Amino acid sequence: MAEQNNAANSQGTRAPAALITGASRGIGKALAIGLAGLGYDIALADLDSCQTGLRDVEQQITAKGQTGRAYTVDVSRKSQVVAMIERASADFGQIDLLVNNAGILKRALLEDLDEHDWDQHFDVNVKGVFLMCQAITPYMKKRRAGRIVNVASIAARGGAVEQGHYASTKGAVVSLTRVLAKELGPFGITVNAICPGIILTEMGRNNLGDDAAVRHWETTTALRRLGQPEDLVGAVYFFASPHADFITGQALNVDGGIRFN
Ligand code: NAD
Repeated sequence: MAEQNNAANSQGTRAPAALITGASRGIGKALAIGLAGLGYDIALADLDSCQTGLRDVEQQITAKGQTGRAYTVDVSRKSQVVAMIERASADFGQIDLLVNNAGILKRALLEDLDEHDWDQHFDVNVKGVFLMCQAITPYMKKRRAGRIVNVASIAARGGAVEQGHYASTKGAVVSLTRVLAKELGPFGITVNAICPGIILTEMGRNNLGDDAAVRHWETTTALRRLGQPEDLVGAVYFFASPHADFITGQALNVDGGIRFN
């Protein structure tokens, strides 16, 4: 993956710019640092409470010789999303790649689930993706170019106990990805999704619970290990690259071999 990516480079010296939500930790942070290592400048977006983490990621990106810039956003708030995308687009010249990574998971059996928690999962995991895509569409359509990668989950493939709300949101993200691919394809914009398996982040560890669950998933995974956040970089980079020019509306499992559909 040493090859430097993006059409923008063929026109001059501007590095391609990626905007990543939920970039202060976990998968978003690994994607930001990984894509910076592959030649991207990165707009880092996260909640106000995560700005210290974002500054740390910003510094790691600068150390790689790329530009990193932190933005505050709650992806479930339209006014914040619109303002943040406007600022990031002006700061970077343009956003070539949008990665909708921000997400939440609080486990609960459906019979015990609060209505508030159901709504909150849909607000962040689905409405957040919708609002981000809606806000960036005019910019990408104007250029007749752009890449969007949505972070779904293998929970969308097979469901999971205590994740009825979460799995439903990720199923919706896969559906949204397909619809957007059809709506934006005529404008040269591709929209794909990745479905991570069990990744050792704060969310992944909370989700796993005890050591027995870790061992269960290690032996259930074909490659016999759980994922690291860095394992997601290659798939996103591929979808953003010219090698994926003819691929849109797809959802790719990145799970070490748990789900085969
Ligand atoms: P994480 O909890 O470590 O990080 C989630 C990030 O999203 C945090 O930085 C958080 O501040 C941010 N975020 C939450 N609500 C937000 C909001 N309203 N606005 C802006 N940012 C917000 O989780 P992670 O494991 O890094 O997960 C990243 C993505 O990958 C999520 O969409 C998650 O559903 C998905 N995923 C994770 C796993 C896993 O095993 N870790 C598996 C499949 C899918």
